[in-house]
Amino acid sequence: MKQTGRCYCGDLHYEFTGPVHSQILCHCRECRYLSGGSANASIVIAEESFQWTKGEPKTYQRSDLETPRTRFFCENCGTHICVKSPPRPGMLVLKIGSLDEHSWFKPEAAIYCCDKQEFHVIPEGIKVLDKA
Ligand SMILES: [Zn+2]
Ligand SMILES: [Zn+2]
Repeated sequence: MKQTGRCYCGDLHYEFTGPVHSQILCHCRECRYLSGGSANASIVIAEESFQWTKGEPKTYQRSDLETPRTRFFCENCGTHICVKSPPRPGMLVLKIGSLDEHSWFKPEAAIYCCDKQEFHVIPEGIKVLDKA
């Protein structure tokens, strides 16, 4: 099924067609910068099933890490769309908030719960992992 999404200002549009490999909530410290404070609600999809259909994203990599993640975001409005993560080659981790339709999201696992905050609520019945 084709899924479409965009950044807040609309300069970036994207779509993907492939299956959703996993659905996660990430509680790590880094994700709190990007999510605004809550766990980061993301899906993992194949990079080859994804394409930008409008605009060119800006990328960011930390220079102090040996294998940094590459973050794709809108340089106009700052919406963070997705991440390429070296531990997941060929995959993209896409934040669900920019998808036009994301009410189907059903997290299967909460990861990096070693960093979880007390105000973070983990849904009942999902896997709870200390790391990834
Ligand atoms: Zn934008
Ligand atoms: Zn995280």
